[in-house]
Amino acid sequence: MRIYIHVPFCARRCSYCDFAIAVRRHTPSAAYLQAIHTEWLLRKDLPRWREGGAIQSVYFGGGTPSRLATDALATILALLSSDHRLAPECEVTLEANPDDVTRDRASAWFHMGINRVSLGIQSFEPRVLEWMHRTHTPDQVAPAVETLRSTGFDNLSFDLIYGVPGSRARDWESDLDRALDLDPQHLSLYALTIESHTPLARWRARGEVVSAPQEDAAMQFLVANQRMVAAGFEHYEVSNAAKPGFRASHNSGYWKGDPFLGLGPSAHSSWQDRAVGDGAPYGGGKRHRAWNRREWEAYRLAVAQGRDPLEGVETLTAAETLLEDRYLGLRTDAGVPSRLIPAENWAAWEREGWAECTDERVRLTLEGWLRLDALVAQL
Ligand code: SF4
Repeated sequence: MRIYIHVPFCARRCSYCDFAIAVRRHTPSAAYLQAIHTEWLLRKDLPRWREGGAIQSVYFGGGTPSRLATDALATILALLSSDHRLAPECEVTLEANPDDVTRDRASAWFHMGINRVSLGIQSFEPRVLEWMHRTHTPDQVAPAVETLRSTGFDNLSFDLIYGVPGSRARDWESDLDRALDLDPQHLSLYALTIESHTPLARWRARGEVVSAPQEDAAMQFLVANQRMVAAGFEHYEVSNAAKPGFRASHNSGYWKGDPFLGLGPSAHSSWQDRAVGDGAPYGGGKRHRAWNRREWEAYRLAVAQGRDPLEGVETLTAAETLLEDRYLGLRTDAGVPSRLIPAENWAAWEREGWAECTDERVRLTLEGWLRLDALVAQL
C-alpha cells in the first residue's frame, strides 16, 4: 500500500493555488499530529489496508509539509511503521519550500527516514515568484539544495511552473537551465491553469491578467522535453522526468492503480476489490474512492468529536474504471494495453503522430501528450 498525508498549512496563498490549504502564521503542529494519529487509528486495521502488504511509499504533500514541526513528522512516521511494515525500499517524500530548508530541519528529516525531497521552486525569476505570491526568493534555492545534499539527500525533485501569462518577464529556458545546473534527480513541470476562486482568477476577471496562449505553453513543454532529455532525463509521464533509477515510486504507483490511503484534510484514498480476472488494475475487481473533509477546521473538529472525517465514498462503475485506467496509463511512457483503446482510435492517433502503437501497447508521443485530454475525451 501507499500512503499520502496532506499537510494543509501555508504561510500565504499562492496566486494560482486552489489546493485545500489553511493559511497560518504559526503551524499548529500538535493539533495536526493529534488529528492524524486519530485518523490513522480509525483506518489502519481496515482489511483493505491490512491486506495491502508493506508500505511502498509515504508522501507528505500540501500545503507546506516543510512548515510542520519535525518532531510531529517523525512521530507520524513512527506511528505508520509501528503498525504496518515499511518495505525496505520505501520511498518517503516531503514537499518543501526552499525558504523552509535549514540545516537543523534537513538533518531531522534525513534521520527520521525521509529519503526524497520535492522542492517547490516554480521559477528563478524574482518578479514571477512575487507575482505567484511565493514566499521564497531565487537566491534561497541553491543554498537549500546544498544544505539538503550535504545532509545526505541524494534524491531531489524540483517543481517548476510553465505557461505563465505573457505579461510576466519570464525566460523559461533560463529557468530550465538554472534548475538543471543544480543537478536534480527528478523534475515535475506543471502548466499554469487559472482555477476559479484563486487570486489569479480574480485578476483575470478584472482584466489584469490574460492566460498565456496555448501555443506558448505547448512550445515551453516541447523545449523542456528537449532540455531534459539532453541532460539525461527520461520524460516518463506528461509532467514528470527523472534520471534513470529516480522515477517517483509514489506517483508511479498512483498511475498504475495501486491502492493508496490518504490521511488529513481533503486526502483521497483508492482501493480495488480482489481481482477476479487477470489482475488489477486491468480486469480486476471493483474500484472504490473515498475522500476526507476538505477544510482543516472541519476535519479537525470531526476527528476531535470522535466522528469519521470522511466526506464521501464512491464505487466506480466499470466504465469509470476503464476511463481512469486509460487516462492514467496514457499519461505515462508505458502507455496502456492496446485492448483498452478501440483500434479505430489508436490507428487514427498513430496516423496523426500522436501515438505509437504495437499489438501490445498504445503510447502517446509528445504531440499526443499535448492533446491528452482531448484524446481521452474521444473515448
Ligand atoms: S505553497 Fe503550495 S499549497 Fe501552499 S499556497 Fe502555495 S501552491 Fe498552494
